[in-house]
Amino acid sequence: MRMFEIIKDQIKDIKKIVFVTGAGISQESGIPTFRGKDGLWRNYDVMKLATIDAFYDNPKLVWEWYNERRKNIFTAQPNLGHKAIAELEKYANVVILTQNIDGLHQKAGSSEVLELHGSIIKIKCSVCDFKDEMVTEFSEIPPLCKCGNILRPDVVWFGESLPQDVWQKAVIFANECDLMIIAGTSLVVSPANTLPIYAKQNNAILIEVNPEDTEMSSEMDLVIRNTSANSLPEFVTMFKEN
Ligand code: NAD
Repeated sequence: MRMFEIIKDQIKDIKKIVFVTGAGISQESGIPTFRGKDGLWRNYDVMKLATIDAFYDNPKLVWEWYNERRKNIFTAQPNLGHKAIAELEKYANVVILTQNIDGLHQKAGSSEVLELHGSIIKIKCSVCDFKDEMVTEFSEIPPLCKCGNILRPDVVWFGESLPQDVWQKAVIFANECDLMIIAGTSLVVSPANTLPIYAKQNNAILIEVNPEDTEMSSEMDLVIRNTSANSLPEFVTMFKEN
């Protein structure tokens, strides 16, 4: 039996699909997730580096870590999971609410991507309103803004709030979808982990794609215990056939 067979008869009624994605969807593009064995960097706990406190304590260290991540991300390519989601736009209304900061959904061709946690490709000043895109190299670490303060990656760190306009849109999309596919996220980071609850309130079908159990697996209508690159192409094929 095919992985998504159980929802085959419901496909004709599915108009709006929301994907909630996390680090796991980019794992097969060679970008490590935070949790698990890959989550260590030079013996630092990455969960402690991705915080505003770490940045103020030691901006140079945090920038060194981000620069390594940036190098990896600039050369990474979308995998079959990202590509399948992009292709699905031909057959349904698709929105991606991603916790990822790597830009790989956009690189795969998806047009409606909300970056809940910002983007590693962009930078901003830690004090003034200056923002910039696609800066690949810096002459000094930490890089400085023209105003004299330290520049930082334009990402949302643990302990910081999400941009309210982005979050409000995400909640509306979650509230209005017919199907939510939650792929490659451990669903432990708040508030992104509340998005399935909004979808459930609209009686949306919930599907989780993750090789491992998450806190919300028991709430799902269907759980695919496989990787996103292995399973999402099959999901798109089912749409094509209907
Ligand atoms: P996480 O590291 O907490 O969890 C990753 C999840 O992905 C796990 O549940 C794991 O079982 C699953 N997974 C691993 N390989 C997979 C695969 N091939 N296919 C499907 N699932 C797979 O990540 P999170 O839930 O996104 O939350 C942590 C935070 O990490 C987020 O805020 C995010 O911004 C940040 N982050 C982003 C990136 C990125 O942009 N690529 C990378 C690392 C961390």
